[in-house]
Amino acid sequence: MLGWRRGTGLPIAAPMSAHDPATGPATGPATGPATALQTVHQAIAHAAGLASRKPEDVKLIAVSKTQSAEAILPLLAAGQRDFGENRVAEAEGKWPALREAYPDSVLHLIGQLQSNKAEDAVALFDVIHSVDRPSLVTALGKAMERVGKRPACFIQVNIGAEEQKGGCAIHDLPALLAAAREAGLAIAGLMAIPPADTEAAPYFALLAKLAGESGLAGLSMGMSGDFETAVMIGATHVRVGTALFGTRA
Ligand SMILES: *Cc1c(COP(=O)(O)O)cnc(C)c1O
Repeated sequence: MLGWRRGTGLPIAAPMSAHDPATGPATGPATGPATALQTVHQAIAHAAGLASRKPEDVKLIAVSKTQSAEAILPLLAAGQRDFGENRVAEAEGKWPALREAYPDSVLHLIGQLQSNKAEDAVALFDVIHSVDRPSLVTALGKAMERVGKRPACFIQVNIGAEEQKGGCAIHDLPALLAAAREAGLAIAGLMAIPPADTEAAPYFALLAKLAGESGLAGLSMGMSGDFETAVMIGATHVRVGTALFGTRA
């Protein structure tokens, strides 16, 4: 399915074809994380150039969920500083030690957040990409008050109106945004995960349109299979795991 999507994707996806699970090595980058990092940066720069954007306006978030500290360290050593995790408890287990070694690392929460974990999330993360409902906005507002720290937030939009997917409905976005601002959250932009097995570009374009209408500059969109497309459509943050670390166990 993914092969079909990528096979019919924009030609700019070609530089990443070595990492296409359909044709590339099943384990992902065989050349090592530092080389993979360079390859992804080059692909971002190429896509940014095609869209007359500056590569430095696109933040690469290395998605290190399920990866061990041993797997993460080579990327830190190669200069990568922004990392994405999808579970608070897992991140609490590995990042305090990594952060001691690399105090300037920046942690992004990209997975669904339960309200009862809001305080832990605020304490650990620098950016939260998954604000998607009023109860979470309330919990985060209180948590930020208690912890005395205000991580930047993205509102996650259920851009394909999928039943099982996290994210707020498009028609709920204005009210959620207002509630978030009311609660003192610093909203940096919008985040979305387009439906699987379909062309992502129209969903990226829709997210960009919604962000523009909301006066938000940040666009967290694009993963290993489609980040170049996302960059061309305006992504400010791409979340890339497999293309950097290989296939997750
Ligand atoms: C796992 C994950 C990613 C990274 O996906 P890859 O296809 O491995 O690049 C990006 N965003 C979110 C929200 C994720 O959960």
